[in-house]
Parts: sequence; structure tokens; C-alpha cells
Amino acid sequence: MFVAGALLGWRFHRSRLLFALLLLTLADRTVLHFAAGHALVRDRVAFQAVGLLLPLNLAALTLTAERGFVTPPGLVRLGLILGQVAAVGILDRSAPAPTAAMLHTTLLPHVLFKWTALADPALIAFFVSAGLVVAGLLLSPTHTGRSFAWALIPAFLGLSRVQPGNPGLSTFWFATSALILIVAVVEASYHMAYEDTLTGLPARRALNEALLRLGGQYSVAMIDVDHFKRINDRHGHDVGDQVLKMIAAKLAQVSGGGKAYRYGGEEFAVIFPGRKAEECLADVEALRGVVAETRFSFRSKKKKEKVLTDRGPGQRVPVTISIGVAEKNDRYTKSEQVVKAADRALYRAKEGGRNQVQT
Ligand code: GH3
Ligand code: MG
Ligand code: MG
Repeated sequence: MFVAGALLGWRFHRSRLLFALLLLTLADRTVLHFAAGHALVRDRVAFQAVGLLLPLNLAALTLTAERGFVTPPGLVRLGLILGQVAAVGILDRSAPAPTAAMLHTTLLPHVLFKWTALADPALIAFFVSAGLVVAGLLLSPTHTGRSFAWALIPAFLGLSRVQPGNPGLSTFWFATSALILIVAVVEASYHMAYEDTLTGLPARRALNEALLRLGGQYSVAMIDVDHFKRINDRHGHDVGDQVLKMIAAKLAQVSGGGKAYRYGGEEFAVIFPGRKAEECLADVEALRGVVAETRFSFRSKKKKEKVLTDRGPGQRVPVTISIGVAEKNDRYTKSEQVVKAADRALYRAKEGGRNQVQT
């Protein structure tokens, strides 16, 4: 798991995956080497130190940004991790009794936590770390954050259920944590490829695949923002981006079983599986209407922060869209032909004066 994940982390530039795998591997090796062979695993300094440090380190990784591996911040992180290993080793040798006493401080009611090999400081470290990771997720949900939250659970089980007679058990749980982190990186990459970052809509690649999967009847609506260049020129590219986001949010709500995609730039597409063009015209017309009626305006009159809302009292930015619709039929049997036909209809909508739907 470590080798596979390290390879992936290196190729995908995911240093936090590398560090997390390093932490899990060090934890696993430490438990096996210093503790698992002993009858009283839970009394060992190294074991309780791993229980204390592993969750805190994983939480710290989640809450910090991706900063590379062979970079100054990356090397500092590596140094901090190896420093902890050295510190635990030294304390285990030079002051085993006081360190063990500290790591076994009673802080929680014993009756509730009899089932776990972890002592109270380690348990609290796990609870605090889980709280921090979940709080971080609430503030900004990310794939990485979510995977770290899930990965804490097997790590916790691995340490909780460690058994002298079965040292492989904790390795199994640590490997499960590693697998969760690895799968999350693959998943995040998949989303990056198929999802548009600006609008959150599925992107062109997803549209192309969806079109290939469609069998039988369907219709495609191609959508283009009217005079979008003007919006960019007058208010700046950032405002243009905000307009695209807000339009995308409206398109995502399309009725009639349609699904919206960002085709590219200021162009969008909606596909209506199982529908003829005339059967989705009302839904498409509703989209045009909702965009035309939305009051895109600036929240504040201050020039510096140009934040758009859809109801603000400030300066209004008129935004409309033109739409061309085409269906699969005897003439247009391939999806590229249907998309081209919708594009031609869109061109007619532009020629006809914009802010309209053409088939
Ligand atoms: P028309 O009504 O004929 O469609 O006029 P238009 O100005 O919208 O047409 P055109 O296709 O020439 O302009 C599209 C502009 O959209 C050009 C480009 O600078 C801008 N654009 C494309 N993608 C983005 C983006 O992601 N963000 C922003 N802010 N602008 C974009
Ligand atoms: Mg265009
Ligand atoms: Mg345009």
C-alpha cells in the first residue's frame, strides 16, 4: 500500500498523500517493532505515543495546504515527522517510566473505554483530531479532507484492537487507512477531469461520454451567453466569471429531465434524454426566461469589490442567453450531427436578435 500510494502521490504531486502514508507506515512499524511482541502492548511507551501522535499529525496534514515534497515546507514537514520518531525513541530509552506515566494519565471515565488499548491521552488526541478534520470539512469540503476523516477510523480501530498474539491485525487496519487515502486521490483526479472548476457543472469530457451513452431519442440544447465579451470588457474578467457561475447555477436547475454541462468558455449544453425537440422547448424557454429576468447586479456600490448577486440594489448588468435546440432523428443520427444542428439553430437565434430559442 505504501509503495503503490507513494508512486501515485509522486506522479500526481500529492505530497500530503505521501506524508500520510509515511505516517501510517511509521506507526505500523513502530507498533510491530516496539509493542506488538510484548504481552502488555498498551503499557508500551511507543504504542501510546503512536496513538497520540498519529491522529494529530493526520489532522495537521488535512488542515494545511498542499506544499510539495522536495520544497522548503515539504522538508520541514518531513523533519517534523522524523523528529517525532526520534523523540519517541529517545524517551522510550532514557525515561520509560515517567513517559509511560504521562501517556497513561487518567482523564476519561475508565468504564466507557475499557474496550480500547489506547490510553486517555491518545483517545483524546483521536477525538480532537476527528473534531478538527470534520470542522475543516464543514468550512471547505474537499476530497482530501473527507478521505482523511474516513482514514482516521481504521487507524483508530487498528490501534484500539491491537493484540499481542496477532500483530498483523493492526497492519491490516493501517493498510485500510492507506487504501482510503489512495482511492480518494484517484477519485479527486476523476472529478478534476470531468467537472468544470469554475461552475461546478460537468465538463465537455463528461458531455461527450454522456452523448455516447445515449440510446434512442434525445435532444440537445446549445446555449451561448449574449454579448459576453461586452460584460468582460465593461466589468472585468472576474465579473464575467461570476456571471458564468450564476448562469450555470440556473442551468443546473433545468426541468424536464435535462442535464446541463459547460461546453467551454461561455457556452453550455443541456441534454434531454428520451425527448423530442418540441417536448423540451418549454423547459428550454423557461431557462432563457429565468436568466433574462434575473437581476444580475452588484452587491455594493464600492468599485473595488465587484460582487454580483441576483437581487442586489446596485448597478445592473443585463445578461441574456441564446439557445439552439436539435433532436436525434432520421437526418441526424450521430450525436456530433445533433450537436452541430443545435449549433446552427443557436446561430439562427443570434442572427434573429439574441435572447431567444430556435430549433
Ligand atoms: P455573442 O452574443 O455573439 O455570443 O457575443 P459574445 O461576445 O458572447 O461572443 P464571443 O464568443 O465572441 O465572446 C465570448 C467571450 O467569452 C470571449 C472570451 O473572452 C470570453 N470568455 C470565454 N471563456 C470565459 C471565461 O471562462 N471567463 C470569462 N470571464 N470570460 C470568458
Ligand atoms: Mg461564444
Ligand atoms: Mg456569446
